[in-house]
Amino acid sequence: MATASGLGTRGNGPREQSIIDPITGERTVVMGDLTFPPRKVWMKTFGCQMNYHDSDRIAAHLQDLNFTKTEELDEADLVLFNTCAVRDLSNNKFYSQLGEIKHAKKKKGGLVVGIGGCVAQTEGKELVKKYKHLDFAFGTDVIDTINDMVFRVYAGDSKFTINSWDRSENFSIETKVSGDSPQAFVNIIKGCNKYCTYCIVPYTRGKERSRLMAEVVEDVTKLVKYQGIQEVTLLGQNVNSYGKENGETLAMLITELDKIDGLEIIRYTTSHPYDVSDDLIAVHGTSKKLSKHLHLPVQSGSATVLERMHREYTPEHYLGLLQKLRAAQPEIVLSTDIIAGFVNETDEEHQATLDLLDKAQFDFIYSYVYSKRNKTRAANFEDLLSDDVRGTRLREIQAHQLKIQDKIHQTMIGKTYRALIDSDGNMGGIKKWKGRTNCNRIVHFIPESVDTDYKWHWVDVVITSATALSCQAELVADLGRIAPSLQNKN
Ligand code: SF4
Repeated sequence: MATASGLGTRGNGPREQSIIDPITGERTVVMGDLTFPPRKVWMKTFGCQMNYHDSDRIAAHLQDLNFTKTEELDEADLVLFNTCAVRDLSNNKFYSQLGEIKHAKKKKGGLVVGIGGCVAQTEGKELVKKYKHLDFAFGTDVIDTINDMVFRVYAGDSKFTINSWDRSENFSIETKVSGDSPQAFVNIIKGCNKYCTYCIVPYTRGKERSRLMAEVVEDVTKLVKYQGIQEVTLLGQNVNSYGKENGETLAMLITELDKIDGLEIIRYTTSHPYDVSDDLIAVHGTSKKLSKHLHLPVQSGSATVLERMHREYTPEHYLGLLQKLRAAQPEIVLSTDIIAGFVNETDEEHQATLDLLDKAQFDFIYSYVYSKRNKTRAANFEDLLSDDVRGTRLREIQAHQLKIQDKIHQTMIGKTYRALIDSDGNMGGIKKWKGRTNCNRIVHFIPESVDTDYKWHWVDVVITSATALSCQAELVADLGRIAPSLQNKN
């Protein structure tokens, strides 16, 4: 349960109460002196996993106010954007869609429009003033009060911004899940104290604050017991800093979560190499449930670029971590983030990144060109690199990495992997199911019969062919929806 001190805190205002019509079965929600009939919310999320998780949390809250999600803008009564300030592309897409919503609002008079996330945190006030069709904006630290904000708009009080920081001593929330997925994201830490010179996050998400370990363990235990969750991803901007202020660590937390019956896989993201401790590396070897995949952002292979980025480690230190991780867990699969063309990056510095890719042998990478963000320290550096050079370097990095991962994937052929199946689709006219292995590789297989529903089933598959980007497989065994660790206990 969310405590009185945490992010989940709401004021002493009215609460949602459901009334079901005994004849039609229709649900109406009463909050204060307002009645909320069934309504639809259309949400658009930009950016990182944290934002997608926040959007799920917002949607789960809005269910209490009788809103269900729709993919059709025309059906919407409420439009919400969850914004990202990290990259130009997301930012530009958001502004263009916000402009288009003006027409939707003209068509549908009562349409309510709000924005949340990182852009709203820093620019919410100006945006509400500038865009007449925008009703409200809310920052990253107040998402659990979304129903109060929507209530306020329906009560006739629009054009407001709430972007205050939660100042309570501990970060305390309860995870909310909606839908039938056995996977859940569990926030364990928020904010970031690192201040990498290119990154806006410390300004949009605030200082690091962790949930207490006992609260996270109780939260996950309940998710497993009552909500059918079998896989959790521990989430934060820098999860490796988890618990510092409380004398707790991520390694300690994983060790406790490992004991929960019915929990099959534990993942965590995102990591900062500086805070990867020997204890955490050891847990990769000893934990039965910790995923055999780790995403560890390196950003560059050049010591001088890393210094300009204020990343607080060298390429040698980073490669040493990979070596230790592979020694602790020989099956571990590693991935990373790369920024191409950081401010004034030289040819030699770019080459150092290509060299690091060779040494690290990542399974996959996310790569982006450097994009200047206002308010960051790097925005004040004089930058002589052209966008063309940045683009060329990005393409070189991606082509180089594709060759590496193609080779790695070839070694998977003939091996059997367990995967959790999440969706089906049409690939070249053939129906295939798609799932993710423990080590986070995506596999596709053709079902034995087109009518068989494998959604959220655990399956064993053997890899029959692979490219740099995908693995094709054959079904070996369908284990059904119950966590394999529980099945083995029979
Ligand atoms: S560690 Fe660096 S890149 Fe990651 S969120 Fe913090 S400041 Fe940004």
